[in-house]
Amino acid sequence: MKTFPDIDPATGETLADIPITSPEELASAVARARAAQGEWSELGFEKRAALLRAAAQGLLARKDELAELVTREMGKPLEDARREVQGFVGGIEGQLVEMERALAPEILRGGGCETRIERDPLGVVAAITPWNFPIGMPLEILVPALGTGNTVVFKPSEHVPLSGARLAEGFQAFLPEGVLVLVQGAGEVGAALVEADVDMIGFVGSRETGKRIMESASRGLKRLVLELGGKDPLIVFGDADLEAAAECAVHHSLRNTGQVCCSVERIYVDESVAERFEAIVLEKARAWKHGSGFTEGVKMGPLVSEEQRRKVTEQVEAAVAAGARLLLGGTRLEGQGWFYPATVLADADESTDLSRNETFGPVVSLSRFSGDEDEAVRLANDTTYGLGANVYTGDLERGQRIARRIRSGQVGVNRYLGGVAGAPWVGARQSGFGFVGGVDGHRQFTLPKSISYPVAD
Ligand code: ADP
Repeated sequence: MKTFPDIDPATGETLADIPITSPEELASAVARARAAQGEWSELGFEKRAALLRAAAQGLLARKDELAELVTREMGKPLEDARREVQGFVGGIEGQLVEMERALAPEILRGGGCETRIERDPLGVVAAITPWNFPIGMPLEILVPALGTGNTVVFKPSEHVPLSGARLAEGFQAFLPEGVLVLVQGAGEVGAALVEADVDMIGFVGSRETGKRIMESASRGLKRLVLELGGKDPLIVFGDADLEAAAECAVHHSLRNTGQVCCSVERIYVDESVAERFEAIVLEKARAWKHGSGFTEGVKMGPLVSEEQRRKVTEQVEAAVAAGARLLLGGTRLEGQGWFYPATVLADADESTDLSRNETFGPVVSLSRFSGDEDEAVRLANDTTYGLGANVYTGDLERGQRIARRIRSGQVGVNRYLGGVAGAPWVGARQSGFGFVGGVDGHRQFTLPKSISYPVAD
């Protein structure tokens, strides 16, 4: 039996050796999900929702255990892990309320005909998810996939196999056999699952892997929802509340050690206030102490892997070599674990890897602009990504005007981009394909099927 090591990123120690799902086991997992799909679909939404609600209650009853596992496997501070579990598991109820609306049949009438549009499940969904929110990201795929009547083969990230397994067990305790099947392994198992007899792939992860999945899925014309990365800008105009803008900039550059798809990755500050802004940012960033996620007062855990730390280190070093001013951090840490300090850089050249490609590390990157609206929009859109953006200005109308011109799925004006629950989560351009959340998002896991019959006008 082949295994892979589940490594604690705070110590580099192996927590467990996890058996890799073999090709035969994978085929059998998909076959079990296929066999269970018809009955699961026929159960109807209300009964499915009741079972998913019961699973959510069960998971909430074990939330402390889940949160500890998350911190152990990927390093985030325990408080953050608790918030993740509570927030996302607690959010299942809202997802189910939206889903009921998404699945309600529509009736069209005309010319002696009535057409009833029903939302059918697609069949078997492969759920392939990342490690940065080991509970939250899987739930974005599992809940709509299951709630709409699909069955699921779930592969958690190889960095968080135990969190994934515990989450899967939490559902399996309430669901019929085969409705949710777990497989374990790294990219090869993910790639084999995409190639297997599945109808849809729900994926959250990096853009490069998303492209590979799309290529492979094209051979079977399989349906896709791909939630990918970003290079989100934050624009600060001269009339903005600098304190609030700096808080957003620092928090959302450093949160989860920067390992968030919608992290603030580029900050453009009106040059008339840039010096003052820089000083506020520095003071705030100094408070972001790193350490074990189990230590009280620590705001950032380690990066998830040695590889991730190497990437962040290389981006920062190359930017500094190309003329960026290093204001805080930026030094490789000695000792065990994949720690990297809170880092603040200014004036990185626009052509550097740090300015162009996702960093996924704890780096606050400050640049200046003239204060002109067109320039702000040009800079914000100067990327192949399009996940999120944030704008701070004393003029709310200007903020909204800019928001409309930015090519991304979500924009925050004078607040971080996260909005009211029920809004879809959308990656524009190379940040995604398809999307999740809200009525429209849930419908992506279904096929609108029309049944037409004669009626008297
Ligand atoms: P990250 O390293 O940021 O998590 P990845 O895109 O590498 O991003 O990984 C996200 C998920 O995709 C993980 O579960 C990983 O195992 C899986 N994965 C990696 N490569 C492939 C692939 N070629 N096909 C399918 N899944 C993959």
